[in-house]
Amino acid sequence: MQRGAVYDATLYAGDPLTPGVGATRSAKRLSFEDAATLVRIPVLPIAYRDAEPLLEALTGPLAPPSWRGGLPLTYRIGPGPTTVRLKVKSDWALKEIHDVIAVMKGQEAPDEWVIRGNHHDAWVAGAWDPLSANVAMLAEAKAIGALVRAGYRPKRTLVYASWDGEEAGMLGSTEWVETHAAELKRKAVLYVNSDVNGRGLLGIGGSQALQRLVTEVANDVRDPEAGVSIGARKRARQRIDGLAKRPPGTPPPPAEGNIVLDALGSGSDFAAFVHYIGVASLNIGFGGESDIGGLYHTSYDTFSSYERFGDPGFKYGVTLAQTAGRLMLRTAFAERLPFSFTEFAEGVGNSLDEVKKLADTRRAQAVELGKVLEDRSYQIASDPADPVAPPVAEAAVPYFNFAPLENASARLKRSAAAFDKAAALKDLDDTRRRALNASLIDIESLLTDDRGLPNRPWFKNMFTAPGLYAGYSASTLPGLREAIEWHDFENADRYAAIIGARLDAYADRLDKAVAILTEK
Ligand SMILES: [Zn+2]
Repeated sequence: MQRGAVYDATLYAGDPLTPGVGATRSAKRLSFEDAATLVRIPVLPIAYRDAEPLLEALTGPLAPPSWRGGLPLTYRIGPGPTTVRLKVKSDWALKEIHDVIAVMKGQEAPDEWVIRGNHHDAWVAGAWDPLSANVAMLAEAKAIGALVRAGYRPKRTLVYASWDGEEAGMLGSTEWVETHAAELKRKAVLYVNSDVNGRGLLGIGGSQALQRLVTEVANDVRDPEAGVSIGARKRARQRIDGLAKRPPGTPPPPAEGNIVLDALGSGSDFAAFVHYIGVASLNIGFGGESDIGGLYHTSYDTFSSYERFGDPGFKYGVTLAQTAGRLMLRTAFAERLPFSFTEFAEGVGNSLDEVKKLADTRRAQAVELGKVLEDRSYQIASDPADPVAPPVAEAAVPYFNFAPLENASARLKRSAAAFDKAAALKDLDDTRRRALNASLIDIESLLTDDRGLPNRPWFKNMFTAPGLYAGYSASTLPGLREAIEWHDFENADRYAAIIGARLDAYADRLDKAVAILTEK
């Protein structure tokens, strides 16, 4: 599972939504997925053979272009006139699932774990999703086995996990993380996830404290077709994408800068690591030049289709093993844990700016809408033969108290800069190196708060969460951002303070690490 699809609905099915919430949100246009989540419409994928007579039977207005498919018929949205009786037979039997976990104890720091995972269950045959990336992970593990036999034993413990039950809701990884939560919070340094792999560019997201590590690794791995490093290709892509988004006149991001990591949302087995316990995580895979498109999650996801269209010659499978393997081994062998914090502190600042802008925009929009409603513009502009009711007025958006978060963000920037500067110092004796690593190992978990997010107490990470109605995409500073988006204004001030406290704890820890680095 990796793409945005209606199946997202199952992810939140257990979350109680506030009663009446649909009414207060009716002014916002909902997507089909949103609607399925809100009203819990059961969703079942069917073959085009079965869909064709149903679609043909619809009359009424033409479907908007984005709703139309590729069948040779005129897409209409109904209703009727045909009535369909649907009988759904589901197999509700309980099945056992099996995670496969392999552990190689570290020589120097057995209680510091570097974890790698990919699921092995599939909708049908699953050559693309998940085996394309699972076999790369196994190749990586095999290569590490050979290194160990040749005498290279990692300092830290390696844990390789082949998860089960991912397609049914990330069950295998979530159960494992929940079962070992206390131990993982103390010992997990990094979790590297993959899921689907194919021809194309490096796709990677995750903790911004890992941007430097990711960039260094990506600069050292060659793209099997393009003749440059996967890092150079990725940065070129990010520069081009940046051109489109930037205001005119501002310079493009530097070609030599770090690869930018976007925060993780959901859709694969990193979810429990990131959102439930706050382990620094990465999600990685190549793609974009071998679109899995229409065969994703169908019975056409076969070895033959993958071999022909996914990754001919399996070159990008090898590249995935080389990239993830380096991330794992560099972390497992590192003298000092490979975190740097300036980028993360900047990311927090940028997210806060976005949220403040969001509040201002929403406030202005509510006022404008009120004016347009008051002068009856909707009624006057509406087609007299087919009148449309005006939207509901929006509640006035108050001014929020961002101060705890603004102060925490500013302080985080100072502490992060101080750490990155002090960390550039060479030579630490063993005692100090150990103390430094101990102070950093669980730093990401300081972003979690046991109360969790409003209506989603399982989601404890205060910096990132899957957007409530954003499919697999992330929402940063979610407690605050979503409170503004969904007019839950009391929670906005509350979460500004809660997030601020988490960032303060993070900065405290950085200050402690700086003290270890600089004490005489
Ligand atoms: Zn998958």
